[in-house]
Amino acid sequence: MPFSELQAQDRAVGALRAALRRGRLHHAYLLGGPEGVGKGTAARLLAQAANCAGAPGSDQGLDDPCGQCGPCRKIAHGTHPDVFVLNEERVMAKAGRWEPKGGRTPSREIVVDQVRDLVDHRLSMRRFEGRRRVVIIDPADAMNVQAQNAILKTLEEPPDATTLVLVSSSPDALLPTIKSRCLRVAFAPLPEPVIRARLEAAGLPAEAARLAAALSGGSLSRALSLDAEALAERRAALEGAAALTADDAGRWVAFARQHGDDREVAAGLGELLLVWWRDVLVAQAGGGELALAELAPLTRRSATSMTPAEALRRRGLVERMLGALRQNATAPLAIERMLIGWFHGR
Ligand SMILES: [Zn+2]
Repeated sequence: MPFSELQAQDRAVGALRAALRRGRLHHAYLLGGPEGVGKGTAARLLAQAANCAGAPGSDQGLDDPCGQCGPCRKIAHGTHPDVFVLNEERVMAKAGRWEPKGGRTPSREIVVDQVRDLVDHRLSMRRFEGRRRVVIIDPADAMNVQAQNAILKTLEEPPDATTLVLVSSSPDALLPTIKSRCLRVAFAPLPEPVIRARLEAAGLPAEAARLAAALSGGSLSRALSLDAEALAERRAALEGAAALTADDAGRWVAFARQHGDDREVAAGLGELLLVWWRDVLVAQAGGGELALAELAPLTRRSATSMTPAEALRRRGLVERMLGALRQNATAPLAIERMLIGWFHGR
C-alpha cells in the first residue's frame, strides 16, 4: 500500500514524504490525531520507505515504499531486524494492592521494561541490514511515566540513523518533555463522506453508514465499532428524548434514570443528540441532507416548532451535558439538568 491510499491526510502525509524525498528524516516524530485515521499505517509506510530497496523513480530520495521488496515485506510482517514496534501489554495490578471487587483488573500499558529492553539492548547494537532504524511506539500514550522517562534520553541523544515514531490519539497525555523533543505531525479527523464510503464498501446499509459516520467524530475505527444493534439502541433513546414534553417532568426524571444508568450510554445519547440538533438546524435552514434520515418527520416537527436560536440553545445544553460527563458528573443528574434547560429556558 502506498502513501496515496491514506485518505484525506494530505498535509500530514505531505510533510513525511517531503522529509523522505530530501533524505532528511527527523529523529523523532509524534503522529497525533483521532483514532483510526491512518497514523499507524503512516508510521509503517515511513519505516518501509526509509528502507525500501525498490528502484527510486528519479534522482530524488524514495518517498513511497514499493511494498514488494525484501525490506518492505519484512517490515509489513514485523520481521525486519531494524524496525521495532512497541505495543501495549496486558499488565496485572501488583499483588497486595487494594483490589476492586471482581479481582485485579488488567490494564494495558507500555511498561518500563519494554522501553529498557529497546534502549539498552536493541538500540545499542549495530544496524543489521536497514538504511535506517525505525522505532514505532503505538500508542505512545500507553507508556506509563517511568516508561516515558526511560525513552527520554534516547529522544535527546538519538543513535545514528535512527527515527522514533510516536503514535497517539491523545498526544497531550504525554509528558511535556517528550512532546517537546518530537516533531508533531497532525492527522485530521476523516471527513464524514470518506467514512461513509468506507462503511458502505464494508457492507453497511447506507442509512446505518450515514449515522455511524455522523457519530464517528472523524474516526474510522470508532465508526466501525458502532454496530447495527448499538445504533438502533441509540436511535430509540433519541426518539424518547425528542418525544419528551415540557409539561411532564415525571417522564424526564424516568428518562434520565433509564439512560443515565451507564455513563457510556449517556455519552452515546449525547453524541447522537448533537447530530440530531444539527439536523434540526439543517431543516430550519431549508434543506440539505439529514444525517438521521429515518427521523425526518420528527426532525421537521421540531424544526417548525421553535426558532433556530432555540434549537441552537438546546444543542448547546447537550454539549454542556457531555462536558459534565467528562468531568465525572453523575450521569442521571447531567441528563436531567439538560432536560430542565430545554424545557425551562435555562
Ligand atoms: Zn520496497
